[in-house]
Amino acid sequence: MRSNVEGGHPSERQGARGVSPQPLSLPGLYVHVPFCRTKCVYCDFYSVTRTGLEDAWLDSLAREIALYKDRFTRFDSLYIGGGTPTCLDERRMAALFHTLHEHFTFSAGAEITMEANPDDLDGPRLTRIKSLGVNRLSLGVQSFDDNELAFLRRRHTAAGAERAVSAAGDVGFSNIGIDLMYGLPGQTHDTWLATMTRAVSFSPAHLSCYQLTPEGETPLSRMVGTGGLLLPDEEQSADLFLLTSRFLEAHGYMHYEVSNFAASKRLCCRHNQKYWEHVDYLGLGPAAHSFDGTGRWWNHRSVERYCEALNRGMRPVEGEESLSPEQLELETLYLGLRTSHGVGLPSLGKESLPAVRELKRAGLVTIRAGRLRPSRRGYLVADSLPLLLSRY
Ligand code: SF4
Repeated sequence: MRSNVEGGHPSERQGARGVSPQPLSLPGLYVHVPFCRTKCVYCDFYSVTRTGLEDAWLDSLAREIALYKDRFTRFDSLYIGGGTPTCLDERRMAALFHTLHEHFTFSAGAEITMEANPDDLDGPRLTRIKSLGVNRLSLGVQSFDDNELAFLRRRHTAAGAERAVSAAGDVGFSNIGIDLMYGLPGQTHDTWLATMTRAVSFSPAHLSCYQLTPEGETPLSRMVGTGGLLLPDEEQSADLFLLTSRFLEAHGYMHYEVSNFAASKRLCCRHNQKYWEHVDYLGLGPAAHSFDGTGRWWNHRSVERYCEALNRGMRPVEGEESLSPEQLELETLYLGLRTSHGVGLPSLGKESLPAVRELKRAGLVTIRAGRLRPSRRGYLVADSLPLLLSRY
């Protein structure tokens, strides 16, 4: 699930206001909960349905935390993702938070997000999650259309998703994000607009809209690969992307990253901004990735291999790489041009100026406050912008 307009980006229409990220200084902490009750048709994230491994995973997680507790001590964002964190029962969820707080410190006002499946939520459950310190919920709704949810093999119904979003507001969550998907087979502008209209009726703080894309060895990839399923072509996908951006901006949301929209600058996801801003983050759990400013490492994509390594007192790392200053610079360019914050013009060098002028003329970028920022149409080709910058 990742992502992607004439008439100009909000940065052009609203007096050119790109979203400058909130100051990010402390590292972020990500915990991967690798369990799901069932698998969705499109999902390439690492998760297993063998929930009998939960206790072994929790024990190993405590060991992994102990390995890093002197290297990473304080965070201002915690993101519990997966998988489906809300698969964990009350005892295991409390144990997870207890272990995290035993070894790490979170600054006052830290953003603490938990991904949640609407099917796992009701008032009492949400109250208990909130009592653990979670102050931001990311709800995997995907659609408010029951036929689309059935195709995606989601566990919840549209009515169930509505009940979960309402219940989250009722127990006092004010920072709620809703994840949606577009580009589904049979989806029309009208059905997608109906889903977005339903989503904004709850006034969520944040919306993530990803295009349904065949990834890896998923059932969706197989259906597309054998010709059994036709997904929207490039032009139709671009139409849906532009429709999404225009609709959500018209409803007051800032399009601050290719797939992400926030009701205000304060409500942009602090944790995810760290990935785009090259701020350090520690990832714990199977398949989790970490970054420390000069290098990156990633854990085994298997609960069993992850647990085995930690049982032997080893880091559960499958691979790592150091990044040269040139590689870091290139990544900064790629990541920056996916966000409305963009990249500083001086970092591009004088030799890029003719290319910058061409991209501006083509309506793919804007320049404000010394920064090159993607326009709405620029977001559509965000991953190609660095190449286009060098080609002109
Ligand atoms: S619930 Fe989320 S992590 Fe689990 S299979 Fe579905 S999309 Fe993947």
